[in-house]
Amino acid sequence: MPNVKLYAVAPPPPNPKGVTVLVTEGGDKTRSVFVGGGTFNYLCAKCDHPIGVNLEERQIRNLVIQCPAFGQYNDTEPSN
Ligand SMILES: [Zn+2]
Repeated sequence: MPNVKLYAVAPPPPNPKGVTVLVTEGGDKTRSVFVGGGTFNYLCAKCDHPIGVNLEERQIRNLVIQCPAFGQYNDTEPSN
């Protein structure tokens, strides 16, 4: 099962426009944000928490996702 590391980014400003920040239900630190039926795991750039598990390759794109474990913001795309 391939593991894909996400890209660390700075926290967005309050009420950002054009940025979607996804979190887990109730802020549960042990859960993943996405769970699918594929074979790719997407890991937090900082702590390797599985933010997305069992997804298709490139299933999540153009998203900023806050890591449930320690709060790191992760981008699905490189910054440049
Ligand atoms: Zn993390």
